[in-house]
Amino acid sequence: MENGIMKYQSFLIKYAEIGVKGKNRYLFEDALVQQMRIALKKCAGSFAVHRSSGRIFVECHEDYDFDEVTDALQHVFGIVGICPMKEIEVQPYESLSKEIVAFFGGEYPDRHHTFKVHMRRLDKTYPMNSQQLNEELGGDLLEAYPDLSVDVHEPEILVNVEIREKVYVYTHILPGPGGLPVGSAGKAMLLLSGGIDSPVSGYMMAKRGLKLDATYFNAPPYTSERALQKVIDLASIVAKWTGPIWLHNINFTEIQLYIYDKCPHDELTIIMRRYMMRIAELIARRTECGALITGESLGQVASQTMRSLECTNAVCTLPVFRPLIGFDKEEIINISKKIGAFETSILPYEDCCTIFVAKHPVTKPVLDVIERHEHHLDDKIDEMVKRALETDEIIVVDEKGSRIVKHREDPLTGELAKNIEQRPAGETDPVKTESADGNASVSADSPKTAPADEK
Ligand code: ATP
Ligand code: MG
Repeated sequence: MENGIMKYQSFLIKYAEIGVKGKNRYLFEDALVQQMRIALKKCAGSFAVHRSSGRIFVECHEDYDFDEVTDALQHVFGIVGICPMKEIEVQPYESLSKEIVAFFGGEYPDRHHTFKVHMRRLDKTYPMNSQQLNEELGGDLLEAYPDLSVDVHEPEILVNVEIREKVYVYTHILPGPGGLPVGSAGKAMLLLSGGIDSPVSGYMMAKRGLKLDATYFNAPPYTSERALQKVIDLASIVAKWTGPIWLHNINFTEIQLYIYDKCPHDELTIIMRRYMMRIAELIARRTECGALITGESLGQVASQTMRSLECTNAVCTLPVFRPLIGFDKEEIINISKKIGAFETSILPYEDCCTIFVAKHPVTKPVLDVIERHEHHLDDKIDEMVKRALETDEIIVVDEKGSRIVKHREDPLTGELAKNIEQRPAGETDPVKTESADGNASVSADSPKTAPADEK
């Protein structure tokens, strides 16, 4: 397809799953429209997104870059198809047909194709009915381009024509990512490390309509600034699909050293993981996240056996989503590559788990025993968890970069920075915009969110 400036004045957006949500359908459509506006905000040009009788349209008011716009829309969950359209004024059939035939000729310079016309006449005042229009237009196309042939069962080209307040014509459907619009299922806290798995699991849950916040457990000086930068880079890659992610960077060193000091080394990872989950859940509750998300996959390592997961789960009251639980590493890597995270994930920076790892970790931890050994931490652990929470540095990451909105404690004075920014208007939590019946919510996660119909 030509990278045409205003060759297509608009796009018809197809969405599948959200189309079948019954009474709540409009909530999902609203969420989708909103996510599309946020995505288009990043593109050069002026666009309006609107709904009309079960369809969503993008109108392009100025020149735009076709690849940039379709790429942006191909990152909006909920969209299954993007149809670049030609808009024609409603007019008598003779002249209408000429325009459609000319448009078709421009779309397919090589005419050796089979085709079928699919006419939808929503404007019932139009003097010909759909069947007549199908036949007439099919005939006109054959006459203009004799190398074409009709195939009503499996045409290579479906010439879609919709007669509404204008006439819309499209023959191409670019695939969308599918899924549900981000924010329509609420918000969850992703435990994001620098590996392959957690960015993939964040992507997968966002595809099911979750907006993401993230927590990263950092262990300076055992882990470096570059390890943190790697996590920020991964969040930025995921943010291309989810919109801005609020990343909580937690200093975990003190807790890790304390566990190392007091607990059996073969249980280090499990106990450490239990504290990560506890702290992530505390932050999740504070930030109105309804679940935790991890990149665990059954049996991948000692801390991801069924027994180990039982021990990790035992400290959580929120649901824990583990979308990769039944995936092979190969399958996870494929998704990681697809979303563009793999090259970053395999950069060799250390993670706190790889530094404090036991030679022979337990694979079948027993919950009672783990709990008993955790009592060795009773003296100081509550205080340490509190302090860890105070180190929370919040970094807002979007696809273009990151900025710190809450600095951690000043290392010289020991004072907590009080300069936490408010989320910009329009970047409210989805939970706060939940509908009265609580069935769905709409995320407005960009400071640049459009106020009304237009971007
Ligand atoms: P990943 O590729 O996501 O690092 P992994 O296979 O290395 O996963 P583990 O290190 O066992 O797995 O961690 C399991 C899960 O625990 C991760 O997917 C992530 O959700 C969470 N996790 C592990 N380490 C951290 C960390 N430093 N900060 C935040 N979450 C973490
Ligand atoms: Mg890891």
